[in-house]
Amino acid sequence: MNMPTRFRASCPDCRSTSELGAEAFRLALGASSERTFYSFTCPSCGAAVRKRAGERIVEALSGAGVRTMRLHLGRQAGMVQ
Ligand SMILES: [Zn+2]
Repeated sequence: MNMPTRFRASCPDCRSTSELGAEAFRLALGASSERTFYSFTCPSCGAAVRKRAGERIVEALSGAGVRTMRLHLGRQAGMVQ
């Protein structure tokens, strides 16, 4: 009973829909929902797809263990790591 979660991702470039595991996604959490995105690479055409992530998507993806990155906005965080 340890089925990896898979998500349906549709590509706006080639219009294909793929099922991808949590490791295929990245989540970028911004200060507001307008600045919160998830991204993945389309397995069909190789496009880097980035879409706005609503609350439900954020919950589903982070719950499945998707790598999450916090964006620090409003300050000069720049590229500091
Ligand atoms: Zn594609």
